[in-house]
Amino acid sequence: MTKTDKNNFEVKFWGTRGTLPVAGNPFARTGGNTNCIEVTCGNHTIIIDAGTGIREFGSKLVSVCPDQKIHLFLSHAHYDHVEGIPFFAPFFVKDANIEICCGKLEGSKDTSELISNLMARPFFPVGPEVFSAKIEYNTLEENSTFNISNQIKISTAPMNHPGGSTGYRIDFNGKSFACITDTEHVSGQHDENILRLIDNVDVFSYDCSLMDKEMDDFRGYGHSTFEEGMRLAKIANAGSMRASHHMPFRNDEELDEIEKTMTEENPDHAAAREGDSFKL
Ligand SMILES: [Zn+2]
Ligand SMILES: [Zn+2]
Repeated sequence: MTKTDKNNFEVKFWGTRGTLPVAGNPFARTGGNTNCIEVTCGNHTIIIDAGTGIREFGSKLVSVCPDQKIHLFLSHAHYDHVEGIPFFAPFFVKDANIEICCGKLEGSKDTSELISNLMARPFFPVGPEVFSAKIEYNTLEENSTFNISNQIKISTAPMNHPGGSTGYRIDFNGKSFACITDTEHVSGQHDENILRLIDNVDVFSYDCSLMDKEMDDFRGYGHSTFEEGMRLAKIANAGSMRASHHMPFRNDEELDEIEKTMTEENPDHAAAREGDSFKL
């Protein structure tokens, strides 16, 4: 294992697509895998969401996971956020220590039951008993704040999404990153839970599934727009936003256009593309 910088705070996107994975040339620069974000805080590995992007990431983690506890935080259990779970290689490493955390979701007792149901017949051939890692399941309270080492602080807030979803903020070494995904805004109102979570945050990723002009066609699906993300960023004095959870119909060119509009307001805003990484 390479020597880790104990103050390193780095974010990498392994999947930025929402709803469904996509493939093909029109989507190649953005990437086709669904939600998965790697957050490195010193020698801690935090993962937010286990969409299809987690598969390739998992194969890279196999060599380090016996020495490092992996913290997997799920926003919720819609397929695009969990469908990579059965294919996450560290689950099959005997000495790996993995914690899976999720907020309480409608129709589910706790996080352990959630994973069992995800891998139950007739949807999947084998259950989580095939995993050999040591797995700890935690069900998070709404609006909780806790530390996963004495320097890494996690804060959560409920999102406005059918069945529930949790937004996360990570504070480490004087810097911060938040992941706000799968949340619907009410036009003309700004979600206080989100504003609290992204208050003065350095960078946050945001559910930019839609544009304001598309919102009326998608009311009730639980998603937001890049324009609302920018409004929230301004009010909360956030450093910059990474637009994420791109719809399967959104091609690279359309995303370039969205990004152009965002950077005209704040040159630090950007579209999140698979493989992008940055240090805080
Ligand atoms: Zn989603
Ligand atoms: Zn969802």
